[in-house]
Amino acid sequence: MNIYADNAATTKISKAAAQAMTECMEEYPGNPSSLYSLGQRAKEKLEQSRAEIAALIGAEPREILFTSGGSEADNQALLSAAMIGKRKGKKHIISSAFEHHAILHTLKKLEKNGFEVTLLPVHENGIVRVDELEKAIREDTCLVTIMTANNEIGTIQPISEIGALCRERGVIFHTDAVQAVGHIPIDVRAQNIDMLSASAHKFRGPRGTGFLYFRKGIVLSNLIEGGAQERGKRAGTENLPGIVGMTTALRESIDGMDAANAHKAEIRDHLIEGLSQIPHSALNGDAEKRLSGNVNFSFEGIEGESLLILLDQRGISASSGSACTSGALDPSHVLLSIGRIHDVAHGSLRLSIGDDITTEQADHIIKSVKEVVEYLRSFSPVWRDLMTGKREFILK
Ligand SMILES: *Cc1c(COP(=O)(O)O)cnc(C)c1O
Repeated sequence: MNIYADNAATTKISKAAAQAMTECMEEYPGNPSSLYSLGQRAKEKLEQSRAEIAALIGAEPREILFTSGGSEADNQALLSAAMIGKRKGKKHIISSAFEHHAILHTLKKLEKNGFEVTLLPVHENGIVRVDELEKAIREDTCLVTIMTANNEIGTIQPISEIGALCRERGVIFHTDAVQAVGHIPIDVRAQNIDMLSASAHKFRGPRGTGFLYFRKGIVLSNLIEGGAQERGKRAGTENLPGIVGMTTALRESIDGMDAANAHKAEIRDHLIEGLSQIPHSALNGDAEKRLSGNVNFSFEGIEGESLLILLDQRGISASSGSACTSGALDPSHVLLSIGRIHDVAHGSLRLSIGDDITTEQADHIIKSVKEVVEYLRSFSPVWRDLMTGKREFILK
């Protein structure tokens, strides 16, 4: 049995998106910047895609910048907001402790350039508190950037409340919505979002394509100098097939969202129930305010990496943290941010399911995880210490 349970790392491209891309490559060979009709046809297709993406999130076409993905959109958003702040003498930024590294590393860079960053705690449930955000906002705060849904533990943040607060206080609000777009409803106008990052390969579009929504009035900085594409804000010939594939995938995801969420939530809860039977284990992040496709567990006395390898041998593709940090031995900063100690954070498993998952597959996952955890504990020195009382259990 082959089960792909790592959709938070990347999703399989949808048939319709792949087909739309092939068609686009064959039928729109022109460069959108060329003046002859072949180029103008490609330009038209590009602008159609922009209008459709905008409509799908409640924005206007001119508020969409196409990028190479989520990381670029995050970099662009933060650097632009910082430049806007700097011109007004505002150099304080608020974010959260468990953001994606595309955000955290960009913030580090800004700190080196004289900005001050406050990282809000996300507490045991993995959710930012709006009252704490309110207290953290200062006269010189130029940006609040809080992700819509976390990529490791799937917890969903109170985005509408944060948006309303930032609007009231006149602070730019950006959200990394890479895990949310196409999965939960987003309306940038209604939610008072000033900037939003999205990535096609997280909603069954192609890799290497994404977009940044930026509310009109926000002046972006240029990350890439060159031609006048994207109204001069991002040089380089547009990735039209990627953009067309992304548009198809987003439309498809949003059309099927309710049905997909209902099915995934049912399987997710079945997985949570099954894995909870493993002694000394715990679900990471809020049980309710989380993405329908996310299950994240810690098991005491084991190594997450060994768990993954043994699950792989049983046909299950899963993850221990985010794909960006796996391979590194540091425990996940997300699990540390919700108060898991190093040893416990190390023994963690993220399952991110797609809407094609079946109950039979979920049962195979539960059975396999139970057996593998038991096997790994059978020769784990940490587990032996726990059992003999040399070390105390953290998880009940
Ligand atoms: C995947 C991901 C990114 C990076 O997106 P890329 O398109 O891979 O650059 C950023 N933020 C979050 C929350 C993600 O899950």
